[in-house]
Amino acid sequence: VFEPLAADFYGFANELTDAEKAALARIRAHLAAEVKPLITENWEKAAFPFEIIPGLHELGVAAFAWDETKPFPNSAVFRGFAALELARVDASVATYVGVQNGLAAGSVSLCGSAEQRAYWLPKLASGEIIGSFGLTEPLSGSDSAQGLRTTARHEDGPDGGHWVLNGSKRWIGNATFGDITVIWAKDEADKQVKGFIVPNDTPGFVATKIENKTALRIVQNADITLTDVIVPDANKLVNANSFRDTAKVLRQTRAEVAWCAVGIAVGAYEAAVAYAKERMQFGKPIAAHQLVQDLLVKSLGNITASLALVVQVSRMLDAGVQRDEHSALAKAFATARMRESVAWCRESMGGNGIVLDNDVARFFADAEAIYSYEGTREMNTLIVGRAITGEAAFV
Ligand code: FAD
Repeated sequence: VFEPLAADFYGFANELTDAEKAALARIRAHLAAEVKPLITENWEKAAFPFEIIPGLHELGVAAFAWDETKPFPNSAVFRGFAALELARVDASVATYVGVQNGLAAGSVSLCGSAEQRAYWLPKLASGEIIGSFGLTEPLSGSDSAQGLRTTARHEDGPDGGHWVLNGSKRWIGNATFGDITVIWAKDEADKQVKGFIVPNDTPGFVATKIENKTALRIVQNADITLTDVIVPDANKLVNANSFRDTAKVLRQTRAEVAWCAVGIAVGAYEAAVAYAKERMQFGKPIAAHQLVQDLLVKSLGNITASLALVVQVSRMLDAGVQRDEHSALAKAFATARMRESVAWCRESMGGNGIVLDNDVARFFADAEAIYSYEGTREMNTLIVGRAITGEAAFV
């Protein structure tokens, strides 16, 4: 049975259908029983708990959005709440799903042909194939719309033709253990950014784990080098022919990251409220001290404002009116509010707030990566700034 979260203070989840609520209840119960107990140890070890992958995919977390795979009609608001439930338990698990579903499958869905969609989406939805998204490079992060150095060269051949990719990528989630990576590269001929589905076992494709991260330690991020990697024409995403096509994918995933930011703030808030009710100081629970209530209420205010924003941005996606600046503002605003909230929740727990076992320390650390990936606050601000002023201030 589905219960709106206490942190959903105004009851936004009440608008969901019965089928959507039932799916969220299943997701929540599964995460609590099968995923949550594995998180702290794996975070500390910077290891990915691979045993969670089949269960996550059985829940449908990578299937809901696509016509080819969705188990029942559902809304973007529902899918946002699913992302919130994942992030509320762990930001790395939410990121695994975000990469697999939003970025990898999303690229195929938004930029693939009907044949490419029919072939790849069911495999990505079921988890038979694990996907990554390779846009960022060692020398190109925020400026990837124009600064990509990875190249793609088309060669004709007896097989009808193929592409040759050369370059390097950085930060690519899931790529140390995944099966395919959507690689974005600049066509040497027309200088436009194009997208390619590259099997990770292609000769010349080498992925190396990035070590020593202080955030999202469970996410396996890779440095990738591509040396004369041959990609058949069939794996070129048919409708990925300029950075505008990449941006279509990012528009949707940024809204999902905003939902994850709300989930992280909710996870930290729930841990802080529970702790405040139990921890005694000056002869009463710290929850009875006014200044502790202030920290909790400010966090709830941030959660509530951000939730209202992401619910609306998802409704706009379903209505076909969501633009880049809508998801950019949601991402920038919700991640900034998350960052404040996890710090207040951490503060409310005193010394115990820096111990991993109490959850808040992990949310606090992970928030830093969520704040910067999928476009930093500055980049998303500039996207909104361009929309409201007509002036592009990126360069
Ligand atoms: P930079 O671009 O070097 O920026 C550094 C600072 O300068 C930032 O504060 C930025 O806002 C600021 N800045 C830059 N230009 C301007 C400007 N014009 N005006 C004002 N300020 C500016 N990428 C992928 O392709 N696939 C993934 O799966 C993936 N996963 C990630 C997972 C993690 C944990 C992390 C940390 C990153 C991941 N990324 C991934 C990369 C991520 O999207 C980039 O880190 C992000 O876009 C920022 O790029 P950068 O780190 O190179 O920072």
